[in-house]
Amino acid sequence: LVSRKWRVHPTVLDLGDGIHLGEGSLSIVAGPCSIENEAQMEAVMQHLVQSGVRLMRGGVFKPRSSPYSFRGLGLAGLRDFYRLARQHGLRIVTEVMQVSQVEEMYDYVDVFQVGARNTQNFNLLDALGGVDKPVLLKRGVSGTIEELLHSAEYIFSGGNEHIILCERGIRTFETASRNTLDLNAVPILKEKTHLPVFVDPSHGIGLREHVAPLALAGIMAGADGILYETAPVPERAASDGQQTLDFDESARLVEAMRRTYALR
Ligand code: PEP
Ligand code: MN
Repeated sequence: LVSRKWRVHPTVLDLGDGIHLGEGSLSIVAGPCSIENEAQMEAVMQHLVQSGVRLMRGGVFKPRSSPYSFRGLGLAGLRDFYRLARQHGLRIVTEVMQVSQVEEMYDYVDVFQVGARNTQNFNLLDALGGVDKPVLLKRGVSGTIEELLHSAEYIFSGGNEHIILCERGIRTFETASRNTLDLNAVPILKEKTHLPVFVDPSHGIGLREHVAPLALAGIMAGADGILYETAPVPERAASDGQQTLDFDESARLVEAMRRTYALR
């Protein structure tokens, strides 16, 4: 069902308010790794509105390698996130980690994100197949392109055709970067599937100083959208500060991405 052989025309998702995701326009999704408090959200939202970015990311349920790390504000944080975003005319993308959260989160989510640790959580994929909101599906940490497409097939076959695929780096033998951003996946996915394909350079390399060139490379490789992390003071972020852009860097990147997309 997700194959180009089955559907020739690219799938474009309509989020309302003139926001479309997929072929024909460049989508930009930016925001902190974790939602931390109202002041942080306000600052990010003002920055995004000023930059003309309509989609904000931010986790309230965080999959952390250590159980002692900050694990997110949970549902209460999500309600504030959604309410503030609406006030600023923004749409939100946020991670759902387990089946029971799908229903709890539903009223406060524009796009459900499935994280790289849950790409093959088939029960979660089944649950998301039954909702009428878009799902941004990340590639598994050690997942192949084929496995990512199978995971999308779970959601699609359950009745939800609103899916975005996202390359976010895979685990390889390389230790110089957090993950290895597999840009090969972009043209291959664009050839194989009609679904929108995004790139997440932040988790892809894990190094703030190298996020921008990889975002631009992702666009030139054919990505329909870029998702990256930005926060007021990256050094003080509760998670992923080492790969998070400050607002100056973020604003420059947005400009550069638009120029790059226009050249494609
Ligand atoms: C995130 O987007 O903050 C995140 C946890 O991503 P991933 O699942 O790709 O690691
Ligand atoms: Mn993160």
